[in-house]
Amino acid sequence: MAAEKGSYRMTTDCIFCKIITGDLPADFIHEDEALVVFQDINPHAPVHLLIVPRKHIRSINDLTAGDDKVISQMILTGRDMAANMSISKSGYKLLFNVERGGGQIIFHLHLHLIGGWK
Ligand code: AMP
Ligand code: ZN
Repeated sequence: MAAEKGSYRMTTDCIFCKIITGDLPADFIHEDEALVVFQDINPHAPVHLLIVPRKHIRSINDLTAGDDKVISQMILTGRDMAANMSISKSGYKLLFNVERGGGQIIFHLHLHLIGGWK
């Protein structure tokens, strides 16, 4: 199902769309016109954030030419969040899981920022 809310197309059965619209709770560590960032509910590391575009895109496979800006914003925001969390120097992973075989379980594009190991 699809619906219009704000300036972004959303799917009404998508958990991340519901977080973005405030229909499900999450504390945003960062938000801007294109992205929101919040903690992963099931962290795999001391720092595990999700960088999520407001626009509903299913996965990396569904990117179109106009999405190049949002992808670069996601990566640069991941870098900036790593700096804010003081893990730039120790190192981190920026990870896209793509479709079920790639470990994707939420079908709204997101970038994992994972790090903070000693
Ligand atoms: P992926 O496997 O790449 O689709 O990752 C989806 C991630 O979303 C998983 O690491 C989940 O722990 C996380 N997740 C699922 N539901 C929520 C939620 N309500 N709030 C925060 N993170 C969530
Ligand atoms: Zn969505």
